[in-house]
Amino acid sequence: MSKYWSKLTKKVKPYIPGEQPKDKKYIKLNTNENPYPPSPRVIEAIKQAADENLKLYPDPTCEKLKATLADYYGLKQNQVFVGNGSDEVLAFSFMTFFDTDKSILFPDITYSFYPVYADVFHINYDLVNVEDDFSLPVDKFFKSNGGVIFPNPNAPTGKYTSLASIEEILQNNMEEVVIIDEAYIDFGGESAVKLIDKYPNLLVVQTLSKSRSLAGLRVGFAFGQEHLIEGLERIKNSFNSYTLDRIALAGAIEAMKDEEYFQGTRLKIMKTREVVAEALGKVGFHVIDSKANFIFIRPPRIPAEDLFHQLKEQGVLVRYFKQPKIDNFLRVTIGTDEEMDCFIETVKKIVK
Ligand SMILES: *Cc1c(COP(=O)(O)O)cnc(C)c1O
Repeated sequence: MSKYWSKLTKKVKPYIPGEQPKDKKYIKLNTNENPYPPSPRVIEAIKQAADENLKLYPDPTCEKLKATLADYYGLKQNQVFVGNGSDEVLAFSFMTFFDTDKSILFPDITYSFYPVYADVFHINYDLVNVEDDFSLPVDKFFKSNGGVIFPNPNAPTGKYTSLASIEEILQNNMEEVVIIDEAYIDFGGESAVKLIDKYPNLLVVQTLSKSRSLAGLRVGFAFGQEHLIEGLERIKNSFNSYTLDRIALAGAIEAMKDEEYFQGTRLKIMKTREVVAEALGKVGFHVIDSKANFIFIRPPRIPAEDLFHQLKEQGVLVRYFKQPKIDNFLRVTIGTDEEMDCFIETVKKIVK
């Protein structure tokens, strides 16, 4: 704490990202990164972009990337917004669409960045309690509010909400923006992007960090009707005109073009997820049905926190949240088959 800090700086409680420890080599299953490398075509495009043109600013409108994304999803270019990771896109979205006078709604168990953004931007919020099986109670989102946001699939549970339920939420909130954070949608869910022309209040946010193996490149998107995207551009251009650099733009465009590589890696992860879920179920774990690249599990015979520490000691890093309702669960990112075999063997020895 310093006397030179603003009142806001003194007050905020920053988001705590998963550990990136350097003390020893871990099997890292704690931050939902993709275990597979990015497409070789992406690496090549990035190398090509590392040339003398770096002396020049990048395109502030990111037109080529927007055109590539619009083409991929069958949207118009003015229905696409891009930013430095979806965390930045989400921050801009809070500023663009939510006001201080009415509380926004999000689930009590969800991505822990939402309350941080709400606090930083002085936006009040009400928590919607998830059901005992972690599904979202759709009708609890019908009450008066200043906006709605949740991930689909939800984090850290992996629980998926159907598009039919999302449409119900949209129809009951026509005066507010409903943000669907689709960071994990490529691992078995159906994207709400197809609903954009039908709902003027729908904003869909996505990222290259998880399903395209590019957490290190920092690229995220938002899709919505033109009037929403125009608002996001106003806020972005009041902060930083160049949120995406030349390297990121080149890599992102190629990532969206290499469909074959994308399909291969995402299907591999989904397959591994099912194998791991079954193996853990057999030894007594409660495994929440997941449509993400992680699973949310409750161990038998041992508190989750103990299992977390014992796994860490043995070189396997997973995520534990010391938080009511989920403090007996662990979130485990799906790694390669070899990593997951090792995880399962280690877990079996501990819970036996
Ligand atoms: C990982 C994650 C993000 C952030 O992704 P970046 O694009 O890397 O900033 C956003 N929302 C949820 C729910 C996530 O899990």
